[in-house]
Amino acid sequence: RAKAAGRNTFRFFDPSMEASVKKRAELDADLRLAVQNQQFLLHYQAQIAEAGRITGAEVLLRWQHPDRGMISPAEFIPAAEETGLIIPIGLWVLESACRQLALWAKQPAMAHLSVAVNVSAHQFRKSDFVAQVLAVIRNSGANPERLKLELTESLLVENVGEVIEKMFALKSKGLCFSLDDFGTGYSSLAYLKRLPLDQLKIDQSFVRDVLIDPNDAAIARTIIALGQSLGLAVIAEGVETAEQRDFLSSHGCHAYQGFLFSRPVPLRDFEHLVQSI
Ligand code: C2E
Ligand code: MG
Ligand code: MG
Ligand code: MG
Repeated sequence: RAKAAGRNTFRFFDPSMEASVKKRAELDADLRLAVQNQQFLLHYQAQIAEAGRITGAEVLLRWQHPDRGMISPAEFIPAAEETGLIIPIGLWVLESACRQLALWAKQPAMAHLSVAVNVSAHQFRKSDFVAQVLAVIRNSGANPERLKLELTESLLVENVGEVIEKMFALKSKGLCFSLDDFGTGYSSLAYLKRLPLDQLKIDQSFVRDVLIDPNDAAIARTIIALGQSLGLAVIAEGVETAEQRDFLSSHGCHAYQGFLFSRPVPLRDFEHLVQSI
């Protein structure tokens, strides 16, 4: 047994590793083609206020792969970040979201909606990020006050001063910011105080077992209280049951996103949902 383990440990060439390197190279090449051939689309997931009203949508990227079908972002966003392809992809997401906002602004039933866009740290760090976002807004005619950028704590590991400066520059044009997956990363409370945020998003990993795991319940309650103390809105993601919503509501969280209300769906389905409520 020990001998076998020893042999494995000293093996330089592992066929399964070769397979995964090959798979990864294929993924990178496919992603490049996907950008060229516009194989991406967006799904919209409703964001809900207390009374059940839809206040907007988070746009979630989907990759319609020619052979493999729909691929989820968890599978390709990391590769897109490492290859830098997240830059053109992210720009496309932003342009699409802003174009949609401008279209909705002309429809009385949709004009109140906001759109939340996920921005990866890699994208936000680009020196021309602010200029690029403002150009997209200008060209699309979208109302910047309806655009929310979802950032993650991974932005806060370096150059926080620069991050804050960029956030202020965008905020001064009317955009707002949500801190996504809150509680799963590295943000310190000192940063939270300095960042011009509008919203904290309770990560779904705390929501999932909020009714059965006292630690998750404590964390969810703490995030809600923290938001209240700092004057930030709090939204819970991954809400799947009415019981989870009621628990969160009873502790002061009044905005939700999750399968209880709607899965992420194609644009037409989201528009029908808004009109049916
Ligand atoms: P996220 O921004 O935290 O998005 C929430 C994820 O939770 C989405 O997964 C959504 O489909 C899923 N979700 C929503 N409600 C529920 C629920 O009730 N139960 C469960 N189990 N899951 C729920 P999705 O669409 O697979 O996206 C995964 C992640 O990929 C996103 O997490 C985000 O970090 C990233 N992502 C998606 N679109 C983009 C994009 O346009 N740009 C960037 N940079 N990242 C994106
Ligand atoms: Mg998000
Ligand atoms: Mg999230
Ligand atoms: Mg998440």
